[in-house]
Amino acid sequence: MTEDNLNDHKLRHINPQGLLRLMSLLAVISIIVIITGASIGIYKVFHQHIIRGAEEEAVNLSELILAHEGKNLTGPAQKDILSITPQNIGRLDRRLRSFLHPFNIVKIKIYAPDRRIIYSTDHSIIGHIDDNNLRLENALAGLNDSKLEYKDTVIDLAEEEKFDMDVVETYVPIRSDQGEILGVFEIYTDVTRYRDEINRGVVTSALLLTLILSVVCGVSFLIVRKGTNQLRLAQEKLRHLATVDQLTGAFNRAEILLRARKETSRLRRAGERSSANAIALIMLDLDRFKNINDTYGHHAGDLVLRQMTRRIKIELRDYDLFGRYGGEEFLAVLPETNLAAGLATAERIRQAVGKTPFDIEGKSLPVTISLGVAVIASDAVDLTSALKEADEAMYQAKNSGRNRVGNLKG
Ligand code: GH3
Ligand code: MG
Ligand code: MG
Repeated sequence: MTEDNLNDHKLRHINPQGLLRLMSLLAVISIIVIITGASIGIYKVFHQHIIRGAEEEAVNLSELILAHEGKNLTGPAQKDILSITPQNIGRLDRRLRSFLHPFNIVKIKIYAPDRRIIYSTDHSIIGHIDDNNLRLENALAGLNDSKLEYKDTVIDLAEEEKFDMDVVETYVPIRSDQGEILGVFEIYTDVTRYRDEINRGVVTSALLLTLILSVVCGVSFLIVRKGTNQLRLAQEKLRHLATVDQLTGAFNRAEILLRARKETSRLRRAGERSSANAIALIMLDLDRFKNINDTYGHHAGDLVLRQMTRRIKIELRDYDLFGRYGGEEFLAVLPETNLAAGLATAERIRQAVGKTPFDIEGKSLPVTISLGVAVIASDAVDLTSALKEADEAMYQAKNSGRNRVGNLKG
């Protein structure tokens, strides 16, 4: 095989439709993966944004609380926080509640450095010690720490129970003027109102992305489909070139033999079930064709071959096969045809060619053919010897005067 043949061979075995289907599947999977990934990413970015915003607000708020209530939270030397006495808790609580009222704060806690809750808007937890709280430890080490939490129920500052809430919990260290950490605020900010915004943002981004990807994939699909269509046409052209004789449009020798072999295999299989089937072979050759070439020229000879093929094909059934076996020698393969029917068809063909002269570029040329018929019976399937027999029958027809049908059996 030359390199060109090898490439042709490869080209013929690519399935353009399959290629297109595979590409479409990959595109759909990619779109799903990209949109899912992007939606999760966008959702996380929105969350981070909201957490940062709530943290900033909590830090500002803690500074404001310290500015207003600092004196009430720390001892006289401002060293040790949180000399909140049971007596001033009540007043502090009232002031803080009215101060926090305009903000979206649902709860606030104040921790002493020993991790004891010394004040909370939820009075029931005052006095608890919060050991093993990593985030509290971070804040005691000087770091702000924020986290978004979903809450089934929350008691807000107005002592009302609220359900289904998103809350950012921020720990903010409380520092003395000297920068010493005196305690920690834990501020609960209600961010539920952003939930719809986030969902809308994610859905809008996902839809936009879907639209963009669909357009990109759609355009790519059209381009690739154009390519695969061209490939399919090229394949069809190649297949045609490889199987069909270019002058007459009949099958070429390799193809008619290949198809004859397929028919005989089928007959062999069918023969195991019934013996009624047979294939008739008709070998035919133009009579004194050399004279036509010599008299009218090679081009006229070509036209004769073409016109003869057309006349013969009209006489054959759709599933009969007709090919150019040699220069001016042709083979018809007639499935499900016994000897009598094969001989009848051969006779019909002979008449179709010889009955009326050919019209070749305005000239009237009488053309005749000689034919030989052989049959492959299902009980003795042998293509090679049947071909030989049809050939011999044809030469018998030539030898007995041409323009006739020969048959070794009759
Ligand atoms: P016979 O009746 O014994 O078959 O005589 P013939 O002249 O037909 O046989 P012969 O084998 O002497 O010559 C066959 C001719 O067919 C010779 C060759 O040039 C011609 N031929 C073969 N292929 C083609 C073709 O494609 N086009 C043309 N124009 N002629 C061809
Ligand atoms: Mg001839
Ligand atoms: Mg010949």
